[in-house]
Amino acid sequence: MFGVVACPKCHAVRSVELVHRSAGCQRCGYRMALDKVRVWERHDAQAELAGAIARVKDELTAPALKADEIFAPEATPHGDMRSRLLDALPDGEIEEDELLVRARGVRIPEEKAREILLALLTEGTLCEPRPGWLAKV
Ligand SMILES: [Zn+2]
Repeated sequence: MFGVVACPKCHAVRSVELVHRSAGCQRCGYRMALDKVRVWERHDAQAELAGAIARVKDELTAPALKADEIFAPEATPHGDMRSRLLDALPDGEIEEDELLVRARGVRIPEEKAREILLALLTEGTLCEPRPGWLAKV
């Protein structure tokens, strides 16, 4: 029985024989305990492994692709991003950089977040108590 695992340290994907208790990572040398790591796929035939490894690699890199899709400007209506950005604001002051990090956390690309911030400052929903800091009015 073979399994496909990803190294917890460097995320390199490899196949292992599941009769073993551990396997070394071919990239970083980390020793994985096979009962501790997620076995993504199991196969009896070694011939299946190349395809299985490719699928697991795809799956591991998928979140990056999804993030790109989410970050497409048309993906989310402006108003929705605006309310998510307002939700991300604390009661007190926040540094603009920190707010941009939070905006990214709620799937608002930085460019869009800056645009919305500017609009909020212009309409007086936000103020800039000191340079680089923002607060709700
Ligand atoms: Zn590794």
